[in-house]
Amino acid sequence: MVLGIESSCDETGAGVVSGGRLLGAALSSSMDEHARFGGVVPEIAARAHLHALAPCVRTAMAEADVRPSDLDAIAVTSGPGLSTALQTGVAAAKAYALAWNLPLYGVHHLAGHVAADTLEHGPPPGRSVALIVSGGHTSLLLLGDLARDPIVHLGDTRDDAAGEAFDKVARILGLGYPGGPAVDRAAREGSATAVRFPRAMLGAGFDFSFSGLKTAVARHVEAEGTRAPLADVAASFQEAVADVLTAKAVAACRAHGVDTLTIVGGVAANRRLRELAASRCAAAGLVLRVPPPRLCTDNGAMIAAVGELLVDAGAPPAGLTLATDPSAPLTRAALAPASR
Ligand code: ATP
Ligand code: MG
Ligand code: FE
Repeated sequence: MVLGIESSCDETGAGVVSGGRLLGAALSSSMDEHARFGGVVPEIAARAHLHALAPCVRTAMAEADVRPSDLDAIAVTSGPGLSTALQTGVAAAKAYALAWNLPLYGVHHLAGHVAADTLEHGPPPGRSVALIVSGGHTSLLLLGDLARDPIVHLGDTRDDAAGEAFDKVARILGLGYPGGPAVDRAAREGSATAVRFPRAMLGAGFDFSFSGLKTAVARHVEAEGTRAPLADVAASFQEAVADVLTAKAVAACRAHGVDTLTIVGGVAANRRLRELAASRCAAAGLVLRVPPPRLCTDNGAMIAAVGELLVDAGAPPAGLTLATDPSAPLTRAALAPASR
């Protein structure tokens, strides 16, 4: 049984996982405090984590109905993310590990996103392809056994992440921050075929590019002004993103002879992306795994899930010398940045 702590960005999360099952979780977001700045302010995020960490841990433990002595380990996000935000979580995790005399593991935030789905659907069967679509990353990965095998990067974004594109387009459309959920909501009333936005790099390998799309939306709004119905622009933009993401993810499965696609990260909460992925996977004979929206965005349970993989794999704990690494590369789910 593992307690996981997440504090890499603006969400403070704690979660308790046992035997691959989520027993209890708590989340606190400083999102509203960043809204008037149009993006996350690291200093504000760090202070919010400081206030929210202990209550989140207490709530998650209470919901799971576990005591510190029931735990086998503590896992905390050690990177990548905002430096001061990460340090707050790691410092708190060290305090718990010391006070409760438990081994401490550092977890890669993106490994957490990948493992989030195991809480819903169990470990991926053999080889699979994962699409991570979040606020800071857009990557296609080839996965084997999460506990043992290295993760192979098939493609990444060359500029903006998919979530970043949603956030920037939301700002262009005056929908505020955070942008993803706002665009998703606005798009419900709009037509996805109203504007034909560009599909960058479609059919050209497994890398992505979203900055041209964001610029195309800005140009369109500039040219059309208030004549451009906001819902149509939102729906057409969302369609362009979902189209490229799902086409490349399905192509990656085909290219690597894999029959399971997992989509994770905050953008995986997007209604249209989930819908289009479901229909294209069905047409291609692929099994699609997408966690429920609350496990797509940042949370503590996904970190606990990786922590349990590390414990089960017999990985050496990092202990009280655990350092943060704001730009840690993702190479393995388990056995990875633990001892750094
Ligand atoms: P990273 O995981 O890359 O470090 P992060 O932790 O900030 O970045 P997540 O919490 O995984 O990212 O996801 C947040 C992102 O997901 C934001 O960009 C947000 O706009 C986007 N997002 C959340 N919900 C939706 C939605 N329904 N539709 C589209 N995008 C969404
Ligand atoms: Mg967030
Ligand atoms: Fe994230």
